[in-house]
Amino acid sequence: MGRPHRFHVDLPLAPVPGSVVTLATPVAHQVARVLRMRSGDVVHLFDGNGGEWRAFIEIGSGNAIVATLDGFLAETSPMGSVVLCLSLLKGEKFDWVIQKSTELGISHIVPMVTERSLPGSARPDRWHRIAVEASEQSGRTTIPEITPPMPLRHALTFQPMQAGPPCRVICWEDERTVPFLAPVRPARATGAPVFLYVGPEGGFSATEVDLALGSGAQAVSLGSLILRSETAAIAAVTLAMHAT
Ligand code: SAH
Repeated sequence: MGRPHRFHVDLPLAPVPGSVVTLATPVAHQVARVLRMRSGDVVHLFDGNGGEWRAFIEIGSGNAIVATLDGFLAETSPMGSVVLCLSLLKGEKFDWVIQKSTELGISHIVPMVTERSLPGSARPDRWHRIAVEASEQSGRTTIPEITPPMPLRHALTFQPMQAGPPCRVICWEDERTVPFLAPVRPARATGAPVFLYVGPEGGFSATEVDLALGSGAQAVSLGSLILRSETAAIAAVTLAMHAT
């Protein structure tokens, strides 16, 4: 038998076996109509705060579904925090990075307005839905937080979590000597939060790179080839996630 289907629920799950939750209509539709599950089938539910429950479903009239919590399952979130600060990108590219970086275990995504980013493409509801679906699918018990878009200069001092001093690295194609992992590996080894800054298709301007360096970020290279923004973002997230 495959893994049980996992669903995110919007309400905090009471830590009491036997408590009952009503599944929201889109989830109920997915369970009853799309997956054709039956009363008594097992699902896994998580509320995004780190825990996960095994639950039995009961399909009532009109396809309303209640789930009875049965057993608490262990927390599966990765250690430490990696925050991706990515310039707004055109079309579906930003959506794609949200989905992939969620699967890879990113903690926060900060959309950035930069000199060369394209204006007017923020879609917070859609972004949240993509993050929830990727979390359900990948087995994570937390949902990455996607902040409202902010200018680079705010993103350079943004710190959402209570943790020690962060390591901030700006991915810059003109940096030729410092490899990405040089500052990131030691930071991850100590559990320090790591902030990754990736620019738009047209790159960061020289002024922006200076601003980042002036606020304590380090410039790093992802190799001698020029990567597209979305490739650079996923390469950086992957390396950072595995650098512990
Ligand atoms: N338009 C620029 C390239 C921008 S690439 C040019 O043609 O020179 C888009 C973004 O991806 C950059 O802002 C940077 O953050 C990242 N990036 C791409 N290749 C990189 C590399 N080899 N090393 C570090 N960052 C890179």
